[in-house]
Amino acid sequence: MRRQIVAANWKLNGSSELVQSLVPRVREMAASLDNAVEVVIMPPSLYVGAVKGLLQGSQVAVGAQNVARWQAGAYTGEVSADMAADLGCTFALVGHSERRELFGETDTMVAEKVSRALESGLDVMLCVGETLRQREFGEAKAVVCRQVERALAGVDPGRGEKVVVAYEPVWAIGTGKTATAEDAQAMHQAIREKLSQMGFAANEMSLLYGGSVKPDNAGALFAEPDIDGGLIGGASLQAEDFIAICQAVG
Ligand code: PEP
Repeated sequence: MRRQIVAANWKLNGSSELVQSLVPRVREMAASLDNAVEVVIMPPSLYVGAVKGLLQGSQVAVGAQNVARWQAGAYTGEVSADMAADLGCTFALVGHSERRELFGETDTMVAEKVSRALESGLDVMLCVGETLRQREFGEAKAVVCRQVERALAGVDPGRGEKVVVAYEPVWAIGTGKTATAEDAQAMHQAIREKLSQMGFAANEMSLLYGGSVKPDNAGALFAEPDIDGGLIGGASLQAEDFIAICQAVG
């Protein structure tokens, strides 16, 4: 049985007020979910401690949106995987397309971050996805499989249970456009095949879909056989929408 996961990526949104109002509601609603979905909240790193504090004793997990390529040292402004683990995070998001596009993260850097996160005992949520141009040129599967291969080249295939891959077509993130369930399924199947070729127990690994997931499209996406949950941006800032998406799994 694969893990089913729905993760909230708050991105650069939030405040102490939002933490105080949103997290207890997610906690309460998550407790009443009748499926086995793992719920994860990934706030900006400055709020990790406060979010974790409000989730004591709850099943809802906390993750970091990003970790540094280094564990410590003269890297002003960075947050390490060790620090995330120290504060109670159990997940690290790595390779989000906004990090790749806006902060110049290459596949090599993403691979380093994957290694740091695993060294720190975190589960990795690796984001991959093609741009609209790459899709129009028929390169989507090749691009995504190459990202998977490069990011996980240094990972012992025996550690696959610590890795979750989130397929997020870049053109669908924050745009209101969603991949059709069929297109998303086809990509998830290709990712699973790639993981299998790399020696991972791919059928036991969780693959998430992300990109404008909303309560009204989540059910169709999650019904696909290779989609094990979602990575949610905008809709994760509304407790009702986020929980409705969690409820749509399984
Ligand atoms: C994301 O940031 O990972 C994401 C999927 O955003 P949105 O749901 O807003 O498209």
